[in-house]
Amino acid sequence: MTDKEQVSELIAAKRDMAEKLAMDIWNFAELSYNEERSAREIIGILKAEGFEVEEGIADIPTAFLAKAVIGSGKPVIGFLAEYDALDGLSQQAGMTEKCPVDGMKNGHGCGHNLLGAGTVLSAIAAKEYLEKNGKNGTVALFGCPAEEGAGSKQFIARAGWFDDVDFFYTWHPHNLNTVSGIGNVAIMGANFHFYGTASHAGSAPELGRSALDAVELMNVGCNYLREHTIDQARIHYAYSDAGGTAPNVVPDHATIKYEVRAPKVSQMQELFARVVNVAKGAAMMTDTKMEYEVTMAFSDYVANKTLAPVMDKALAEYGAPEWSEADCDTALRFLRTYPKTALKGIKDEMRSLFPDDDPDELLARPLHAGVIPYDPRETRYSSGSTDVGDAGYGAPTVTVYIATAILGNAGHSWQNTAFSASGIGMKGMLRAAEVMTLASVRTAEMPELIARAKKEVLDKNGGKYVCPLPDYTKPPINTY
Ligand SMILES: [Zn+2]
Repeated sequence: MTDKEQVSELIAAKRDMAEKLAMDIWNFAELSYNEERSAREIIGILKAEGFEVEEGIADIPTAFLAKAVIGSGKPVIGFLAEYDALDGLSQQAGMTEKCPVDGMKNGHGCGHNLLGAGTVLSAIAAKEYLEKNGKNGTVALFGCPAEEGAGSKQFIARAGWFDDVDFFYTWHPHNLNTVSGIGNVAIMGANFHFYGTASHAGSAPELGRSALDAVELMNVGCNYLREHTIDQARIHYAYSDAGGTAPNVVPDHATIKYEVRAPKVSQMQELFARVVNVAKGAAMMTDTKMEYEVTMAFSDYVANKTLAPVMDKALAEYGAPEWSEADCDTALRFLRTYPKTALKGIKDEMRSLFPDDDPDELLARPLHAGVIPYDPRETRYSSGSTDVGDAGYGAPTVTVYIATAILGNAGHSWQNTAFSASGIGMKGMLRAAEVMTLASVRTAEMPELIARAKKEVLDKNGGKYVCPLPDYTKPPINTY
């Protein structure tokens, strides 16, 4: 039997377990740092499969490390499971119209139930493969909460838990099948607090110093700053304390929340320092005091160029999930739920992704039936961010995207919550588990390739992982 056939057999044998786990996590629909039931169920399954589990790592109650040592224990194969849901995206399974579950607010609109269950399945299959074939290695599955919130992987990395990992293979539910050269930008979030002096705005304005004026001037300054930043930089803000509701009182307090993004973590840090300077200038102009605290930060993610071809080859060998006529009918019903303007956008996207195909023909069976090959020359960034970036600054990391939803489907939508509990989602999850397992057991036998992949990480991180967060920023359990 080939390695590919063996992996498929191991995955098929645990299929029911994985599908049940995915549906249970979908039903729990727990938000960032509150994934108690999801984490407990995953831990129970991994313990029963012979993994040793350390719970509450990096001071995050729902984070854990599950480890299985086989033979010499080298190399260490890392997996990253996520299992958090999103606020406000509750949706009934199988319904092709917006229809929240009674009494439920949250939903798996990013498919992290599939991500988590598929990763657990892959780790178990990798362990069994190594054992059955008399190979060596440690399978290390990290339970990573709060990817949709302030993240966990950067805290886990900062606490040193990733130091011994030789490589990570992970996946994310998507609408295409690909190991992509497109990366995710780095991000930093911070609260800027301004303190002034209260006074009667009408009778004694000369005695007042307005914290609200300071915030407004900071925003004006940042809006001008945008003129002189790199193309892919993003600066966004939202008021969390506008200083009160009375126009006749000079506000002596105001707080604004900023998020700064740029492709590489170094570029993001440089830009963030300029935003801090603008805040200092605003405080000086208004004779107020300014303090800020960093609340979250992720490094950028780019697929490790040395290992991406291994995952790409595994994906090419397996191909896309095998979609049935029934899957295509379901997909069509979902496609019709998009408004006309969105459908036009989806068609434009199809034209740019598949220039040789007729978009109407593609959308007549709107599930990705092919594979887009990895192309390292295509490296560019999407404007979203993920804490997988911090895994990649510590160890070689590659994400494979597998279709679990229709072509052009928008993430973080009620449709996505529905797909995450559908037969389409389950097929994608099983395929992802096969691809990750095959890539990881093959890589485990290529020590020279692992060494080159690690060298690529060291060239990128300057010798060792440095967390973009200041030491004072702790996991914001229940405060983010
Ligand atoms: Zn996600």
